[in-house]
Amino acid sequence: MTTSKEDIEQYVDKNCTWCVEPITKFKDELSATEYQISGLCQKCQDEVFDEPEDSIVMQPRSSFRDRETVISTWPDNGQEPEVLNRIPIPDELILCDFCNAEIDNDPVPVLNNSYALCEGCYARQTNGSNINSTP
Ligand SMILES: [Zn+2]
Ligand SMILES: [Zn+2]
Repeated sequence: MTTSKEDIEQYVDKNCTWCVEPITKFKDELSATEYQISGLCQKCQDEVFDEPEDSIVMQPRSSFRDRETVISTWPDNGQEPEVLNRIPIPDELILCDFCNAEIDNDPVPVLNNSYALCEGCYARQTNGSNINSTP
C-alpha cells in the first residue's frame, strides 16, 4: 500500500491517539503510513522511533571472527556502491571504534551493536565503570 499526498492531507484535523493533538502534517509518506497503523502524529512518531538509549552489550571475542574491511565507491546517483577491495581483518585484532586502540579484553563491550569499545572508552561511556567488573 502506498500513501499519496492526498492521503496525507486526509489525516489533517484528525487527532493523534497518543497526545490527542490534531494532526498537522507528516514529513513524508512513510510517516503517514505509520499513522494509519499506530495513529501517532509526527511528533509522537519522532519520539517513539527516536534512537534508543545507548546500549552496551558484551560480546565474546569469537564473535569478531571473519571480519573484513570493504572499500567501495559511494555513488551519488542512487546506484549500488561498487566494491573496490576487501581487506580481511585478523581475528585477534579488535580495535576500538572510537580511539582505534587495540582491545584485548574478552568479552568486548559493543556499543549499540556496532562499535567496539576499549577500556578507556568503555569507562567514558559508562561513567567510569571498570570493564573487568561487568557481569
Ligand atoms: Zn501525538
Ligand atoms: Zn577507545
